[in-house]
Amino acid sequence: MYTDSHCHLENKRFDSDRAEVFARARQAGVTAMLAIGNGDGPGTGTLDCAIKLAHQFDGVDATVGIHPHEAALAKQPDFDELERLALDPKVIAWGEIGLDYYYDHSPRDVQQRVFVQQMEMAHAAKLPIIIHNRPSDNSENAWEDLFRLLREHWISTGLGGVLHCFTGTVEHAHAALDIGFMISFAGNITYPKAQNIRDAAHLAPLDRIFIETDSPYLAPVPHRGKRNEPAFVIEAARQIAGLHGKTTEEIGRQTTENFLRFFRLGSTPQ
Ligand SMILES: [Zn+2]
Ligand SMILES: [Zn+2]
Repeated sequence: MYTDSHCHLENKRFDSDRAEVFARARQAGVTAMLAIGNGDGPGTGTLDCAIKLAHQFDGVDATVGIHPHEAALAKQPDFDELERLALDPKVIAWGEIGLDYYYDHSPRDVQQRVFVQQMEMAHAAKLPIIIHNRPSDNSENAWEDLFRLLREHWISTGLGGVLHCFTGTVEHAHAALDIGFMISFAGNITYPKAQNIRDAAHLAPLDRIFIETDSPYLAPVPHRGKRNEPAFVIEAARQIAGLHGKTTEEIGRQTTENFLRFFRLGSTPQ
């Protein structure tokens, strides 16, 4: 039993065989998936993309939100739409939101403003947040801004959050755990150069982690370079199992229980 805590299933790369992708996930034991609802960003009519999938496919829940890449495109009608979409019962989190100083597709001050505004909206909607955070090369910049903004605008809500596709250091992992966040590990934990991610996964308590694919991106070894899909989430579980001396199935079950507990989705399906 496995849960993919973060996947972009609306992506055009799934248009030709989306039903088969879901069937393969089920076949692999992936019983729950969280579809991320950023779509193509504000102004493209796709901010409801994850909700549509969640209503169409069993075992899929949804998020809404504006990715930091597209922060500069966000206008008031987009925030109004998100406020309305967040009322859908399939929406269990707000995200992915945060800071990306690696690509800088939107100016950093705008990224911060749109991040803060969405934290306020998530608070009003009583939803936890899914964080995307990427600093520029050899820099702590986005991490410092992230934890400062979380301290100023989020931690006191008590709603919690998830650091998705964790790529930081053990210090960043400790900082996230200290403020009560869950840490989600993606397929890049299998990459030879990703020792920092494996170190973080090694120290993280097993009841504080999720696994994800971030599909169609970041396919794990041995699928690296190909399109990623939820069935491949098992490779992150396999890697973490090795670090903790557990079986892959045990990590799958534990991370599924974590997901259901954190999002208050009821008991583990048998
Ligand atoms: Zn992301
Ligand atoms: Zn993502």
